[in-house]
Amino acid sequence: MGDHVITLNAGSSSIKFALFDADGGEWPKMVATGQVEGIGVSPEFEVKRSVDKQKTKRSFSGDDAPKNHAEALEIIIGWLNESFPNVHIGAIGHRVVHGGPVYTEPVRIDPGVLAHLEAFSPLAPLHQPHNLAGIAAAGKAFPGIPQVACFDTAFHRTQPFVNDTFGIPLEFYEQGVRRYGFHGLSYEYITERLRKRDPQAVSRAVVLHLGNGASMCAIKDGQAVSSTMSFSPLDGLPMGTRCGQIDAAVLFYLIQQKGMSVEQVSDLLYKKSGLKGMSGISSDMRDLEASEKLPARQAIDYFVTRIRRELGALMAVTGGVESIVFTGGIGANSQLVRERVLDGFAWAGIVIDSGANARRGEEVISAIGSAVRVYVMQTDEEAMIARHTIAAARLSTSRFQKA
Ligand code: ADP
Repeated sequence: MGDHVITLNAGSSSIKFALFDADGGEWPKMVATGQVEGIGVSPEFEVKRSVDKQKTKRSFSGDDAPKNHAEALEIIIGWLNESFPNVHIGAIGHRVVHGGPVYTEPVRIDPGVLAHLEAFSPLAPLHQPHNLAGIAAAGKAFPGIPQVACFDTAFHRTQPFVNDTFGIPLEFYEQGVRRYGFHGLSYEYITERLRKRDPQAVSRAVVLHLGNGASMCAIKDGQAVSSTMSFSPLDGLPMGTRCGQIDAAVLFYLIQQKGMSVEQVSDLLYKKSGLKGMSGISSDMRDLEASEKLPARQAIDYFVTRIRRELGALMAVTGGVESIVFTGGIGANSQLVRERVLDGFAWAGIVIDSGANARRGEEVISAIGSAVRVYVMQTDEEAMIARHTIAAARLSTSRFQKA
């Protein structure tokens, strides 16, 4: 077997990983994927090998339970060594939520880069420290192996100033209060796929990444020009548990008039809002689609309405579109949401084929006469990280150099 890379996505209580064969051609080939969840609480390890789809699950009790990211990574490495004894790890790629205003592309991690990434922690206090814990754990487990940071923000750094700022004094922009945008690895992957399929399609496009986290991105000439998420992944569309766009004065009201603490407001807006908070039922679109209850319908109505509004806005940014792409768990799977989002958009040249929209696995769902092509695509952030990691490591080591 040739050289391989590991991708890591470290969250507050989980580490997701994937193992890729670096010689997989245009896109590295995934060999296995899995995660340790519930770190520090009730950890569970689950992995799937790509070749035979064989799944392994393991829960822990007592002393063998991983208490932190480093111990969770040890479990992952132990399994990898056992399952793939001949694999050489050439590099490790990390999903890092925030690259600040600095990083416009992935970067090989060194002490200087690490200092920058630590300095960005206040910009993403719920995510960045965990990403850094993953980097530290991997550094210990794989000393001397190149590590590469791939950012959720980097793809959006091509946004023009007007789509990158808020209407507050510019000194705050200089200090880093910007519309960074997130889901960048997903948008980059989709843009690459779209470009490959039809180079014209990326000249003006809107991509809808609708999952637990949801955002939309306008693409012009293959580059990001505007996004619905901004300073944090809280802005824009309502999501599984996040509120999306909200008047900042609501926060003042909750704190000053209702006596809520900053932590309570943060908890409300990040974890108790969106589809879950509005419906009182679930953050999962499948549950809401199956429910007859009024609040479930209202939550879907609001979700769809906000997407439609942003679609109009982003199409105004690009001056019309050649293509629209649905991706993410909801975008790729919910016939209902896609149908409702694009209903009545014929004025903009968008007409979908209901039959194609209803068929699983159909990549083009626009009607034959539609001026705009509408696509449904699976995103693959891990493959994007793996590809970046191989490229960045190739630049700096001989490990992946082709003979
Ligand atoms: P994440 O943002 O955590 O990566 P995903 O992109 O995997 O999440 O999206 C997960 C969401 O996708 C689920 O919460 C669910 O709402 C939605 N989803 C998955 N399958 C379907 C389906 N068949 N119909 C409607 N929604 C679905």
